[in-house]
This record gives sequence, structure tokens and C-alpha cells, in this order.
Amino acid sequence: MILKGFEALKGYLEKPRNIVIIGHRNPDGDAMGSTLALKHYLDKKGHKATVVVPNEYPDFLHWLPGSDTTYRFDWQNTQSQKVIKSSDIIFLLDFNALHRVGSDMQRALEQYPNDFVMIDHHQQPDAVKYMYSDVSICSTCQMVYQYIEMNKDLDLIDADIATCLYTGIMTDTGSFRFRATTSDTHRIIADLIDKGAENDKIHNKVYDANSYNRLLLLGQALSNLEISAIYNTAYITLTSEEKKKFDFQKGDTEGIVNYALSIKGIVLAAIFIEDSEQGIVKMSFRSKGTFSVNQFSRNHFEGGGHDNAAGGKSGLSMAETVTKFTSLLPQYQQELKTSYEN
Ligand code: 5GP
Ligand code: MN
Repeated sequence: MILKGFEALKGYLEKPRNIVIIGHRNPDGDAMGSTLALKHYLDKKGHKATVVVPNEYPDFLHWLPGSDTTYRFDWQNTQSQKVIKSSDIIFLLDFNALHRVGSDMQRALEQYPNDFVMIDHHQQPDAVKYMYSDVSICSTCQMVYQYIEMNKDLDLIDADIATCLYTGIMTDTGSFRFRATTSDTHRIIADLIDKGAENDKIHNKVYDANSYNRLLLLGQALSNLEISAIYNTAYITLTSEEKKKFDFQKGDTEGIVNYALSIKGIVLAAIFIEDSEQGIVKMSFRSKGTFSVNQFSRNHFEGGGHDNAAGGKSGLSMAETVTKFTSLLPQYQQELKTSYEN
């Protein structure tokens, strides 16, 4: 755990400030939940906080309280640059390195003259002035709760803040099932429900918001699934054509990789998704036990993340990407075999 400069930060935030809050590119529930929760909290403390979102985020997160107050860096670029330039300080939430916001926004942040605060749970964070980094915590939303607690402000958590925090903890823990879900997480969740998070409604809004096409895309993904039993590995491919056929929308592929991991005996799961706009194959990795997909993706696919959930990319074609991936497996056979005792 790294906690750096937070006493000084508290002093700095004693005066009202213009604050910008940023999550990572391709925002998920934790990125949107943590940035919006922090915005509501800082506004309540008398600051003027604005969330700037790097790019599009899934429809099933648009209902989050405060979502309509955000700026989108990609298509509201002038307003976003302006609000960044006129801010006193920027909070970076749910990511560990500036390149995770995408190259245009990265350039804007690299020219930023004031200080950054990072609150994040990803491995190997870049250093900034004020840091709260803990890779053992399940979600940035839990860390934002703990930041509010550090400031002795838990009584400022209202239904909107509770709803945003609940959402990110729920999505980043796979609905409270991954290893990093602790008794502390459950105590925090209980408190958030007491403070107004309507848990059944939140689950419904996030998970029961499928379109018919999304289910058909899932069906396609499952029929493309390949199992490599001797390496305890399963992987899924989705081509641009298949995405188009089922009218792919942002967020439609979220969570599909977990189906591969749900097969008995599988400890490494991957999904390869063609992105013809960016000319890459976007990859998601998940593992069970000691096999670190963070390390695997850093070593081979220009990515990273957490030990059991990471992302990466490949500039090769889909077929070449699959070949590269499968030809890497033999060297990890022993590690994969012993990764998780079922
Ligand atoms: P997902 O597979 O859901 O896109 O990402 C899984 C986890 O890995 C998330 O916590 C995400 O923030 C992180 N992640 C995804 N892609 C990358 C990447 O290219 N680099 C790094 N460092 N982390 C990533
Ligand atoms: Mn997260």
C-alpha cells in the first residue's frame, strides 16, 4: 500500500478548488462509479468538481447519478481542454499510468502544470504527487469510500454517492465473488445500502439491460470458444464481421471472457476482439489462482492490470494473434496446472 501526501492534500483542499476527475479510457463500472462518487463528495465539500471521461461508456452505466454532468474528452474536446486547463488539481481514478486515458488525452495531461492525485488499485503505478495505491483492494470505489473515511466524512455519503460506490464495487468484484472481496468490502457494502444504495435496482440496471442482439453476440462468442485442456486454458474470438452482424454496441462484450473461465478445470481464459477502427485485436485475460495475467500480458501483449484480470492488445491479425497466444502456452504448462486447486 502506498499513501503519499494525503495530509498535505487535506490542507490543500481546505479552500474551495476547481477539480477535474478522470477515469481510464473505455470506462467500466468502477471507473464511472468512483469518479462520479468522488465528484458528488467534493461538491458537497464546497469544491467545483467535474468528471472528464476519455471516451464512450456502456449504456448500462448512463443512469448513474451525475452521468449527465460529465464531459467527454473525445467529442467535447474544447470544453474538456478548457475545464482541465482551468483546474487547480486533477484526480486520476482507477488507472495507474497516463497512457491509460488514450493518446490525445495523455498529451493534455502531460502538459498539465498542476498536481495529480491518484487513487487506484492496479499494479505498478506511475508516481504522482499525491498517491493512494493499494493492489489488494477489490475496487477503486472501495478506496474512494476509504478516502472519505480517512477524512472522517462518512456521514456525507448520501444516496447518490452510495449508489455510485456500490456499482463499482459490484462490477469490479464480479458481484462480490472475486478473491479481493473481503469482510471489509461486505461491511462497506452494508453501510452503502444503509445510506441509500438500492442494491436490487442497481443489479437490475447493470446486468438486466441486455438487448436481444447482445445475447446473440454472446451466443456467437460461445460457439467460437476453444478449449485447450492440457493447458487449462479456454479462449474466445470475435471478429469485426461478427460484431457488425449483431449490431455491436460499447459494453456488449463485457463479461463474456468469464464464461470461458467458468468451465471446470480452466484457470486461464482469454477473449480476442477485433477492433478494425484501431487496427488491433483487443485482449482480455482472466485467471484463477497464482497464474498472473498481469505479468503474462505485460510480457507478451503490451498490457497489464491485476493478477487475475488484465487487458492487452495485439497489432497482428486475429489468426496470428491466436497462434501467438497458443504457442506461448507450453512454456506455462506447469504454472497453469498448479495455479488453482479446484
Ligand atoms: P478488461 O479485460 O476488463 O478490459 O480489463 C481488466 C483489467 O485490466 C482492468 O482492471 C483494466 O483496467 C486493466 N487493463 C485493461 N487493459 C489494460 C492495458 O492495456 N494496460 C494495463 N496496464 N491495464 C489494463
Ligand atoms: Mn477498478
